[in-house]
Amino acid sequence: MKATPKATPSMPIADILAPLPEELRRHLYFTLGHFTDKADDAYYYRALATAVRDRVTKHWGATRKRFAESNERRVHYFSLEFLLGRSLNNAIQNLGLDEDARLALHQYGLKLEEIEESEPDAGLGNGGLGRLAACFLDSCANLQLPVVGYGIRYEFGMFHQYIEDGRQVEAPDHWLREGNPWEIERPENTRTIKFYGHTHRGINDQGKPFSKWVGTHDLLAVPYDMPIPGYKNETVNTLRLWKAEATDVFNLEEFNSGNYPDAVVQKNNAEQISMVLYPNDASENGKELRLKQQYFLVSASLQDVLAKWVDQHGDDFTDFGKLNCFQLNDTHPASAVPELMRLLMDEHGLDWDQAWKITSGCMAYTNHTLLPEALERWSVSLFSRLLPRLLEIIFEINERFLAEVTKLYPGDMELRRRVSLVEEGDQPHIRMAYLSIVGSFSVNGVAALHTELLKSGLFSDFYAMWPEKFNNKTNGVTQRRWLSHCNPDLRNLLYETIGTGWESDLGQIEKLVPYADDPAFQKKWSDVKQRNKQRLAQYVKANTGVEFNTSALFDVQVKRIHEYKRQLLNVLHVVHLYDRIRRGDTEGMVPRCVLIGGKAAPGYHVAKLIVKLINNVGSVVNSDPMNKDMLKLVFFPNYRVSSMEIICPGTELSEQISTAGKEASGTGNMKFMMNGALTIGTLDGANIEIREKAGEENFFLFGLDADGVVATKKDYDPNAIISKDEDIRRVMELIEGGHFNATEPGIFDLLTSGLRNPHDQWLTIADFRSYIDAQAEAAKTYSDQKLWNRMSILNSATSGWFSSDRTIGQYADEIWKAKPLGAAKSGAAQKNGKG
Ligand SMILES: *Cc1c(COP(=O)(O)O)cnc(C)c1O
Repeated sequence: MKATPKATPSMPIADILAPLPEELRRHLYFTLGHFTDKADDAYYYRALATAVRDRVTKHWGATRKRFAESNERRVHYFSLEFLLGRSLNNAIQNLGLDEDARLALHQYGLKLEEIEESEPDAGLGNGGLGRLAACFLDSCANLQLPVVGYGIRYEFGMFHQYIEDGRQVEAPDHWLREGNPWEIERPENTRTIKFYGHTHRGINDQGKPFSKWVGTHDLLAVPYDMPIPGYKNETVNTLRLWKAEATDVFNLEEFNSGNYPDAVVQKNNAEQISMVLYPNDASENGKELRLKQQYFLVSASLQDVLAKWVDQHGDDFTDFGKLNCFQLNDTHPASAVPELMRLLMDEHGLDWDQAWKITSGCMAYTNHTLLPEALERWSVSLFSRLLPRLLEIIFEINERFLAEVTKLYPGDMELRRRVSLVEEGDQPHIRMAYLSIVGSFSVNGVAALHTELLKSGLFSDFYAMWPEKFNNKTNGVTQRRWLSHCNPDLRNLLYETIGTGWESDLGQIEKLVPYADDPAFQKKWSDVKQRNKQRLAQYVKANTGVEFNTSALFDVQVKRIHEYKRQLLNVLHVVHLYDRIRRGDTEGMVPRCVLIGGKAAPGYHVAKLIVKLINNVGSVVNSDPMNKDMLKLVFFPNYRVSSMEIICPGTELSEQISTAGKEASGTGNMKFMMNGALTIGTLDGANIEIREKAGEENFFLFGLDADGVVATKKDYDPNAIISKDEDIRRVMELIEGGHFNATEPGIFDLLTSGLRNPHDQWLTIADFRSYIDAQAEAAKTYSDQKLWNRMSILNSATSGWFSSDRTIGQYADEIWKAKPLGAAKSGAAQKNGKG
């Protein structure tokens, strides 16, 4: 009999864990209490996730220790959104547990791919902004940077989208219903958050004036930590998500007055704050609950950081600014500026100048949009009711800022009015972007064009004042999820061809360039794509019932539905191809399967109508007997991270067709490029950099550029374009003639009148001819498969720049001045004698 080692507190944690197959059995039985042999997949998922999490936790503890012991600058990434998707496969891959996990499941005759399907997406974000935050955390862990993500643990994430009768229907996403094995509650780090009340001013014992925020309604912020494992580097970073709860003292009065049930009901009021993610992408909201969410996140997180600081350094804040940095993901957490001022002054006794030096030296702001309707503003009256002390501080920041403006530009009253943090009017508002700029040492855009447009347009007054604050950080995506995990066949082909280093250094994918014209490699390349197209076709069939012909060109546009992204232009092109098929003009056409997917904000009427149009055109086109498998159009329902993991490997043509100057960066474009899709796109956002890296001959360019958009708007006449261009005229006639809505007359009038409106902001008709021509060029290229494969290989081979490791490397060097933390050297590095 094996002697049982005696457990002692000094026994290494690693020795407590049994091999994964045993751990799986143990968790099924002891953790989940599942006593029979046959369980639902959900049980196996949970047991495996828990077993894998235990292994993650081992490195997590070690990483925390390294953090705590180091005296390097720490970074806190504040975001209202983290669109994480699933965690199981990511953890398995990053810890190198693939074989073990397969073995563990094999004892039950199960496959990893099947079990993974039981994990719900963590959909705590709308789209690109939230997914960027998730890719950034992955890259920070990969680079071993001391970065903590701070967000909200929404009970309900991004809604589920169903399609009924061609229309979007929303259903709640209760992603936590079956529990979340990836979170650990930390009640000991609970913080108290204040709302409402008023300010009390006085003179303290030392004769100094002070302000206190009193008479508040308080609630609790309870943290739940999620592990963010680095890639095979024994580093596990933290995402801390806050849940709102009622305080026990909240209702003391009512308890005592015998109003027990009412008092308990109040508990729900507090918990509302972390109940649901606002489902608006690129538009402001203005709802009181949203401002509460923002302040809740910011106050809890700043208190958290300050409490740790005081633990380590006492009340000496001399080096606080040097050793901490806060990155604000858009203006959503902008109240961090006045909140840090408040905490430093009211809670820790610093004076204004000391607090301002610290605050403005450690806040950094990332802008994500040029759309004026997306710029956040909060009414002064709401602010003064909800956060009265913060409003006072904002007013004082503004007064001091405007004094500085007057010193720099004496007498320029117009400038003062333009840059004021307070927008005057019947209902004065706080301009959150301006507050962020004034309160930060760094302001960055997310692609080269976007940053230039910020400097010359939206923020030009601020750029003139403080050019040194402004910088660009072109977005990226993590190749661990968006290539290695989602495209295993391509991963293996890369291993076989260029080795393994690209997984944490995507620049190495350039080694593919010499293979671009190699016929044997091209064959392997297109075989991989073919298998991914088959997988995607099955997925489309299962989710829509529509059959995709896998020898057709797979043409894909997936992203939030928004007028500026111009899904409408895509539909117009499909109608044009359909029209050509009907009139027998198929010269130069190739069979095409067009997939469009994405969610519309529930209150965004036009976007929802576009969804309906896509579905209606799809059902007419797909069932027309004239169309012998030449053309398919489907709307893919409930687009999310886990569906993109199947969609992007199977895509051949990536649609990035926004009106130039409107898409800040785009990141979907990068995922497609890595997976060998060619892009058809405008000179917008990161498309410009994609085209530069891939080479202009490997990109299908069309449409007006950002300057052309501005110039065209001056005398735009879409009706003249429509009447002069036969193809466009026919497309409009089909839609306006009710061909796609025979039983619902008039429903698309809003869309067609928008296209014909000389004030149409999105210039869809202006770009339509150029788009049709670029699509014809893409079709022509596709009919030369050798050429297409070459271009596809070269797109992947030049995608290294678009790794979020590169982006985060730049944030760390140029903004955060953060260094990697004490690498526990990986086994491989030690074996190579580099450890
Ligand atoms: C990458 C991604 C996005 C962003 O797509 P864009 O085309 O850049 O707008 C949105 N949603 C999901 C689920 C994604 O994975």
